[in-house]
Amino acid sequence: MEIALLRLYEVTGHRPYLDLARQFVENRGRIPHFWLSVLRQNASMQARRRAVERQRAAYQAAHPEYTQPPLPPENFAPRPPFSRLRWYLGALTGKYFQQHAPIRQQRVPVGHAVRFGYLMTAAAMLCRLGADGGLPTAMEAAWEHMVTQRMYVTGGLGALPDLEGFGRDYELHPEYAYAETCAALASLFWNWQMTLITGEARYADLLEWQLYNAALAGMGLNGDAYLYNNPLLCRGGVERRAWYAVPCCPSNLSRTLAWLGQYICSRDADTVWVHQYISGRVDLGDGWVLDVESGLPWQGQVRIRLEGNGPDRRALCLRVPSWAGATALRVNGAEVPADALPPAASAPPTACGYDPGRARSVRIDRRWAPGDELTVEFSQPIRLLRQDRRLPGCGGRVAVARGPLVYCLESVDNPGVDLFNVEVVPESLETVHDAEELGGMVMLRGMSVRGERLTFIPYMLWANRGPSQMTVFVGG
Ligand SMILES: [Zn+2]
Repeated sequence: MEIALLRLYEVTGHRPYLDLARQFVENRGRIPHFWLSVLRQNASMQARRRAVERQRAAYQAAHPEYTQPPLPPENFAPRPPFSRLRWYLGALTGKYFQQHAPIRQQRVPVGHAVRFGYLMTAAAMLCRLGADGGLPTAMEAAWEHMVTQRMYVTGGLGALPDLEGFGRDYELHPEYAYAETCAALASLFWNWQMTLITGEARYADLLEWQLYNAALAGMGLNGDAYLYNNPLLCRGGVERRAWYAVPCCPSNLSRTLAWLGQYICSRDADTVWVHQYISGRVDLGDGWVLDVESGLPWQGQVRIRLEGNGPDRRALCLRVPSWAGATALRVNGAEVPADALPPAASAPPTACGYDPGRARSVRIDRRWAPGDELTVEFSQPIRLLRQDRRLPGCGGRVAVARGPLVYCLESVDNPGVDLFNVEVVPESLETVHDAEELGGMVMLRGMSVRGERLTFIPYMLWANRGPSQMTVFVGG
């Protein structure tokens, strides 16, 4: 609701929409005896449900020929002990709804992960539209807490089914992982707003990482089946479906993909930022058009050509992704020296091994002319992202990554291999381009310490070839 109101304000300039959104955000955590509202709301919902059932029974009695169409299945998620109880506690304390504390005191991500992301998006939009009073500092703290202690290596958010939300610090079990597709999208929206407010590369870096590994993972290759929750380890029983009882994710994915072009560049009076390397043409609205040709996620070559005729003096800020190895940057064929790059921001270590704080920006301030061409080459070394020892079910193990992609082992590619006890020989890993498999992709091949051949595919492409087992984490 807050996001909708703020967008309506941006379109119309009608002040009451902004004020109402601010009121909703500021009222968080200020409702006395919130648990009573929860009980009342629950009682009302049960009463409505009973009313629907009565009417359905009456209709059925009057129309004996009518048979109810079968309802789609619930999404499948293995549950840790006390998961239901934790949902009740979360609801009654208000944490499930982020109603446990005023917004500026919410420095730790709790509760339903999609709701959390939407609330943070709205708060960030409020900051961008002028409201402040300590909001950015609180959001930055919440973001750092999430990234360092409550996020899966895929960028997936929400460790608990039932609650559909955050667990305790380091409670990131790969099999219980809820990591709803919508939670990744909500975080994507939040990170875009943070990018606009701060211009910091770490937010755009997380947006990219979650786009590939947490959001696109939800969509089947054919675009006609999806995953609601995205576990990082599956012993079987998980399959993409055309529809679930709760069908929020597919439409959320569709609108995000339709909007994706908006996340690539931004600008102010004298600086243009390139946040994402996705092929396309970006009209900067000042006379310049950027023609972008990108090899990502499979290859690290990007070419940006300046077209049109805009102001000649402009600083161009490029994100150097956290995952990039050596980076070579050329303007019209002449190398821009790497020591001109500012150092990466320091950040606390992350439990999941993916660290957006390693991302940085390169700033090129010069006179531009139509036809100028910028080429960037990011090397994409294969990396082993080690999981903090405290993580249940995967502590001390590694996730294999290359470029912006997290990889996994799926049983269909690795017959006879015990996926859940396998140890990879890191030096054996090599990239293999396969133009046919899974629509064309880069897979990783290697050996286990027991001498078995291993094939890793991008995590976002798993569960497209029938029932299977899968793991993101291996020994190594
Ligand atoms: Zn959803």
